[in-house]
Amino acid sequence: MRACVIRATGGLDQIQLADVPEPPDPLGPREVRIAIRAAALNHLDLFVVRGMPRDYRFPHILGADGAGVVDAVGAQVGTVKPGDRVMFNPGLSDYTCEFCRGGEHSLCVNYRLLGEHLHGTLAEYLVVPEQNVALIPALAPPLTWAEAAAFSLVTLTAWRMVVTRAQVQPGETVLVWGIGGGVSLAALQIAKLRGARVIVTSSQDAKLQEARRLGADITLNHRTQKVAQEVRALTSKRGVDVVIDHVGQATWDESLRCLARGGRLVTCGATTGPQVGLDLRRLFWFQWTLMGSTMGNAAEYREIVRVLGGGALRPVMDRVFPFTESRAAFERLERSEQLGKIAIQVAE
Ligand SMILES: [Zn+2]
Repeated sequence: MRACVIRATGGLDQIQLADVPEPPDPLGPREVRIAIRAAALNHLDLFVVRGMPRDYRFPHILGADGAGVVDAVGAQVGTVKPGDRVMFNPGLSDYTCEFCRGGEHSLCVNYRLLGEHLHGTLAEYLVVPEQNVALIPALAPPLTWAEAAAFSLVTLTAWRMVVTRAQVQPGETVLVWGIGGGVSLAALQIAKLRGARVIVTSSQDAKLQEARRLGADITLNHRTQKVAQEVRALTSKRGVDVVIDHVGQATWDESLRCLARGGRLVTCGATTGPQVGLDLRRLFWFQWTLMGSTMGNAAEYREIVRVLGGGALRPVMDRVFPFTESRAAFERLERSEQLGKIAIQVAE
C-alpha cells in the first residue's frame, strides 16, 4: 500500500511516499481495519520526524489522526461493520492495567500513539482496536473526510484540559495561548460552550480576527502587546481563572503572571522547551493549581463525538493537501502558517 513514511529522523526532506506492506492479516478478534480517506497533521508529527527518544521501525508511517471506511473487522467486533464511516481516538491503551481499569486510558502504562509509537494514519490502511473507533456523526452539511480526520486528537486533548482538568465554569475567564493551532482552537470552542469568557493570543492579527469570529471575547497580539499587563487591565487586576497552555517555556512566566488567586493552569505541551521556573511562595500564597494533561480517556472520546453530533466542535480547517504533496503539508505546519487543521487526502 502507499504510505507517507520516514526512513530516518531529521528534517522534513526525510518525508517520502513509499510502497509498504499492508497491516497484518488476519485481524485480532477486536481489531478493525480501516481504509483511510483522509489524515490530519498535528505538531506531534513534526516531533516524530525530527526524532523522538525511542526506537523506530523504519520505514515509519507518519500521522496520528485520520478517518475512513471500515474495510474488515475481527470476529468479536460488534460496534462497527464493513462500510461504516469512522473516525478514531489516536491513543491506544492496553485496556487492562490499573489506570485503564479505572477508566483513565491516557494514563495507561502501555499508552501508545498512532504515528509515534505505532505506524500511523498516512497510509491506505490502518488497524486499530474496536474500543478506539467511533462512527462519524451525521451533520448538515456533512463532515468532509478532512474534517473528520482533523477532529480527534486536538478536540480530545482540549476537552480533557478544559472540562475534566480545569473544570471551567460559566462566567470564568480563560486565557488560551497561540490560537492558530488545533488544540487552542478546540479549547476556545469548548470554553465558550462552557459559558466562559475567553481571551486568546496570537502573533498574527489575521488569526485573531478569525478567533473573534469563532467566539473569542478578547484577542491579544502577543508579539506587539504585553499579555500579562493587558490581562490584568482587562480583569481589574484580578487575573484569569484558567490558563490553557501548550507552548511551554516561552509562555510559562507570563502565564503565571496572568493567573488569578486560586487560578488553574493546564499544560499539554512544551513546543518552545520543557524547562520552566516556579517560585513556590507564589504557588502556595495564591493557591494555584498547576496541571498536566495528555490526550483523553475513552469516556471523554465518546463525549466529544456526541457533542460533535449535536453540531458543536466542528474542526476549523486550514487546507487540504493531496497525498502526493504530503511534504508540503508538513512544511506549512512547520512554518506555523496554518489557521486550523491541515489535512491530507489519502484516497478519494
Ligand atoms: Zn492500561
